[in-house]
Amino acid sequence: MTRIFGSPGRYVQAAGLIDHAAGHIGKLGARRVAILCSSRSQRNEARRLVDSLHTAGIAIVIATFGGECSRQEIEKQVAWVKAQAPIDVLIALGGGKTLDAGKSIAHRLAVPVVVMPTLASNDAPCTALSVLYTPEGATESFEVFDQGPALVLVDTDIIAQAPTRFLVAGIGDAMSTWYEARACQQNPAGITLLGARPGLAGLALAEACARTLFEHGVEAVAAVEAKRVNAALEQVVDANTLLSGLGAESGGVAAAHAVAQAFTLLEEVDRNYLHGEMVAFGLLTQLMLEAERDEAGRVCSLFAQVGLPVTLAQLGIAEADAAALDTVVAATIDFPFIGNMPFAVTADAVRRALLEADVLGQAIIAVLGDIPYRALHS
Ligand SMILES: [Zn+2]
Repeated sequence: MTRIFGSPGRYVQAAGLIDHAAGHIGKLGARRVAILCSSRSQRNEARRLVDSLHTAGIAIVIATFGGECSRQEIEKQVAWVKAQAPIDVLIALGGGKTLDAGKSIAHRLAVPVVVMPTLASNDAPCTALSVLYTPEGATESFEVFDQGPALVLVDTDIIAQAPTRFLVAGIGDAMSTWYEARACQQNPAGITLLGARPGLAGLALAEACARTLFEHGVEAVAAVEAKRVNAALEQVVDANTLLSGLGAESGGVAAAHAVAQAFTLLEEVDRNYLHGEMVAFGLLTQLMLEAERDEAGRVCSLFAQVGLPVTLAQLGIAEADAAALDTVVAATIDFPFIGNMPFAVTADAVRRALLEADVLGQAIIAVLGDIPYRALHS
């Protein structure tokens, strides 16, 4: 059966990279570019990008992102950019939604996209897909493109200045990559986000991603707490951004993302938690479904140490809230990629796994003692 490995054209990561961005963007033949970014970004890092591009003689228009990666926002931006002088490259600078919107806008304009994440909270930068939301912010669907981004530029100085919670959430999203790819590979009918079988590269990168996080996760989080870049942070940004994206796209997703997606249906959880935080608890649930108790303990211990939610209560869900659990269970078994698990997943099994993950989390917190929980305090 078909194997597909996708990737961005080039990935560049360095501290202070934004001040030299034009050197890399110029290699794409850019003479006139559009920068998609928020108004907040225009008062901050976007100014450094503009300076770099101006120095290199590259003309710029700036498109202000409205905040939601919805079809309406994308069409509005496409119309606005078309009304300016023609551009040859679109640069998306910001968080996951800005980057996803940028990929969709560039696709519609038929120009290469340069992706510049300012957070390491998710694996959006390196994938050839965008998650679309309704204007109200509910997940609607996703678009898959024929090509990944032309160029990904990651400035670790900017990542280190962002609130710690974002890097921590990225660790949750990235850690799941290996376990989901492994499940997808174990199922002979498992398929990746590109509609193909997981190949060796996707699996190897996913495994390296998890190994890197176990080794450097705690130290990298401490570096961001101190707002400085060190070798551990460079490793974890690489894992959260490049390895996680490539591994998820070419290795496949499974139960962890099904549970995470189900959590978004609980309004309180969706409003207060980041994608990677929901994936973290989703991964613990997946490992319980797989009866991988030792591995679940290892993962849970790291999650608790870096400040990811490891109990239902830490996600703002009361154990006794039967209606909330019913919603999560039903949505989990409805998720398209739950079929990537190598065995049939029943509602009862999901419910049991959610509660077992919760018990494990409570036990680990009791052993580790009082570790500052970041999610609600940043
Ligand atoms: Zn994810």
